[in-house]
Amino acid sequence: MHYQPVIHLESGRVAGIEALVRWQHPQRGLLFPDRFIPLAERTALINPLTSAVVEKALHEIGALARDGIELHIAVNLSVRNLHDPAFAAQLLAQARAAGFPLERLILEVTESAIMTDHGRARETLQQLHDAGIRLSMDDFGIGHSSLAYLKDLPISRMKIDKSFVMHFTEARNAAIVRSAIELGHNLGLSVTAEGVEDEATAEALREMGCDTAQGYYFSRALPMEELREWLRRSPWGCPAGDPGD
Ligand code: C2E
Ligand code: CA
Ligand code: CA
Repeated sequence: MHYQPVIHLESGRVAGIEALVRWQHPQRGLLFPDRFIPLAERTALINPLTSAVVEKALHEIGALARDGIELHIAVNLSVRNLHDPAFAAQLLAQARAAGFPLERLILEVTESAIMTDHGRARETLQQLHDAGIRLSMDDFGIGHSSLAYLKDLPISRMKIDKSFVMHFTEARNAAIVRSAIELGHNLGLSVTAEGVEDEATAEALREMGCDTAQGYYFSRALPMEELREWLRRSPWGCPAGDPGD
């Protein structure tokens, strides 16, 4: 597991981390998720994979919390997880067994995950939401965006896709980001921007009222030991507590 810090823009402090999986392959070296998640998604393997990711992330962030560093943790889910009727109960059992406070867990889902078999996915999301877990709409703005999902689903955050944020200097991208932030806020959602690669973008997002951000400008995704080092040394490394982001 690698973890990328998520920064609360107003306070300039870390609010949480996103768990991003990698595969240390014995012959091929470190593989990134785009190489193996789509394969796992086409088989039943995605369910045990998600469960292993959740287990490891809860364990590692639990250790951080015992050292007095309390952060939100975001985990990515796949389409198939939402379609598995046993998924929600299993995840809740894992979190409870780890003693992890559910209100500090964020689950990220993409619009495409919700599109297919909308009814079943919705039921899973509702179960997770009712248990106190926060849900985030990932990759907002690409794919089959439907504003109806933002309106109807029990979602509390939205994450603007990095393709708009990374090329912020293009006026049209900045206009899309600004409008997405406003849309999110008007729906009562907290807004995160991903793919922030420079200071000017971070500053512009802060001025636009974007709540949180992540990207190479703050930090890449790091293994837990390096994340601890980053928390000690970086200007954003002191946790924001819960600024209500
Ligand atoms: P995502 O959820 O949109 O995650 C953000 C991706 O953008 C991560 O790539 C991250 O390392 C990368 N990124 C972050 N900041 C920047 C930046 O400033 N510039 C650029 N160019 N890229 C940035 P990663 O780790 O390769 O993950 C790719 C995708 O794989 C994720 O996209 C997510 O959809 C999926 N994924 C990762 N971990 C898991 C997992 O545990 N389960 C599932 N189902 N999917 C996962
Ligand atoms: Ca994500
Ligand atoms: Ca994305």
